[in-house]
Amino acid sequence: MASGSSDQLREEVTAFLDQEWDLDLTVGDWWERLARSGWGFPTWPTEWFGKGLGTDQLPTIDAVFKERGVLGAPGGLGQMMGGPVLMRHGSPQQQERHLWNLAAGVESWCQFFSEPGSGSDLASAQTRAVRDGDEWVVNGQKVWTSGARTADRGMLVARVNMEAPKHAGLGYFVIEVDQPGIEVRPLKQMTGDAHFNEVFFTDARVPDAELVGRPGDGWAAAVTTLAFERSGRAGVVGVGFGREVEARTRRSELRARKLGEVVERSGSRPTSFDARNPGISGRLSPVSLIKEPGANRSDPLRQDVTRYYIQIRVNTMNQQRARAAAEAGKGAGPASSITKLSRSVATRINRDIGPAILGAGGMLVGPDAPMGGAVAQSTLAAPSISIAGGTDEIQHNILGERVLGLPREPQVDRDVPFKDLKVGTIRAEAQRGES
Ligand SMILES: Cc1cc2nc3c(=O)[nH]c(=O)nc-3n(C[C@H](O)[C@H](O)[C@H](O)COP(=O)(O)OP(=O)(O)OC[C@H]3O[C@@H](n4cnc5c(N)ncnc54)[C@H](O)[C@@H]3O)c2cc1C
Repeated sequence: MASGSSDQLREEVTAFLDQEWDLDLTVGDWWERLARSGWGFPTWPTEWFGKGLGTDQLPTIDAVFKERGVLGAPGGLGQMMGGPVLMRHGSPQQQERHLWNLAAGVESWCQFFSEPGSGSDLASAQTRAVRDGDEWVVNGQKVWTSGARTADRGMLVARVNMEAPKHAGLGYFVIEVDQPGIEVRPLKQMTGDAHFNEVFFTDARVPDAELVGRPGDGWAAAVTTLAFERSGRAGVVGVGFGREVEARTRRSELRARKLGEVVERSGSRPTSFDARNPGISGRLSPVSLIKEPGANRSDPLRQDVTRYYIQIRVNTMNQQRARAAAEAGKGAGPASSITKLSRSVATRINRDIGPAILGAGGMLVGPDAPMGGAVAQSTLAAPSISIAGGTDEIQHNILGERVLGLPREPQVDRDVPFKDLKVGTIRAEAQRGES
C-alpha cells in the first residue's frame, strides 16, 4: 500500500474509523473488523491481515487511535511473537490455522521457554519431546511462564534430539495448554500479583503438525521469537484493557465485552503500568503525573521528567529499528538488544521519579492510594524489565560481541552432544536414562 505522507495515512485511518468504529460492537467483533481491514497489525503483510507498512508509520496510526479513544489490536505474546514467527518459519497449514486467531484476538498464547536450569542459556533446555506416531509426547518443566493460566496455546521449546549439540537438538512447537498433561501453578510476585507461573508437562501431547520447522530447527525459531519479543508490541495500541487485565482474563471473556463499556472504563482508571512499554501518554506516565494537583514540581524533577520524555522518544525510534530488523529476518541482534536495554533505562527513570512526584503517597497500594496504588505497583514491577526477554547482562554480551567486536564468551559445550553435557543440576545423559 502506498501511504505517501503521514497526513495521507491519518486520513486513511480516520476514514476507516469513521466507517467502522461503533461502541455497540463487542470487542470480538471489533477485533475481527480490525483484522479484516489490516489496520490492527499494519506492519504484517497484506496476505496475513496487515497492510505491509513500515514500522515508522505505526506511531501515526497509534496517535489517531489514541486521539479517538479507539480500542487497539489484541495484545499478547502470540500477537507480538507467535504470529511473526509462523510467518517466517511456519508451514502454510500452520499459518492458515493460527494467524487469523491471533490477528482477531480469538486466542492468547504464552511462551514456554525458560526452565529452572535454562534461562539465559535457553539452548540448554531439558524439557523433552519424543515422537509417538503423529504426535510428540512432552515431559519436563517450564518456569516464569507469563499468562499461562489464561493462554490457549504456548510456544514450546523442547529437546527432540539428545545426540545433537544443544543448539541443534531443539524442536519448536505450538502446544494446546488446556490438556491433562499440563499443570499450571501460579507464582506470587512482590507486586502481589501472580502474573507468571511454573508449568509441569507430564506426557503432554502435541500433534506433529504443530512442529514449526523440522525437528532440530527449534533454535532458529526461538531466536526469531526473542527478536520480536525484544522489539516490543506488534499491533496498533489505541486504548486498552491494561496489560494486567489482558493477562488475567481469557480471550473469550474479553471478546464478549461491549466496546462502550471497555472504553468508558479505560478513561476512568489509571491504566496499569506496562513495564515492557513505558510510555509518555498514559495517566501513570511521569509526564502526566507531574501535572496532578499537589504533585512535586521542583526543578530537578522537571529535568528528570524531560530526561524521561527524551528517553521514551529515543525508545520509540529504537523500537521501530528493532522491529524492522526482526521483520527483515536479522534475528535477535544488536537492534533488538539496544531497544531492550533502552526500555530498562526508561523503566528505571520512571521507577525513581513517579514516587518522587507523588511523595509518600506514591508508596501506597490499594484503591484509596493516589492513582489507585498504581505508581507503587509500577515501582515494584520495575526490576522485571531488566530480566524478562533476556537480562540486561545478556544484551550487553550481544552488543559487546556483535557490535564492538569483543571476543566471544567461551562456549566449551557448543559442539558437545547434549547427552554428554552437565546441564542444570542433572547430567543430561542420566536424565535420559531415567525416562
Ligand atoms: C516479568 C517476567 C516475565 C517472564 N515471562 C517469561 C515467559 O513468559 N516465558 C518464559 O519462558 N520466560 C519468561 N521469563 C523468564 C526470563 O526469560 C528469564 O528470567 C531470563 O531469561 C533470565 O533467566 P534466569 O531467570 O534463569 O536467570 P539466569 O540465566 O540464571 O541468570 C542469573 C543472573 O546471571 C546473569 N547471567 C547469566 N548468564 C550470563 C552470561 N553469560 N553473562 C553475564 N551474565 C550472565 C544474568 O544476567 C542474571 O543476572 C520472564 C521473566 C520475567 C522477569
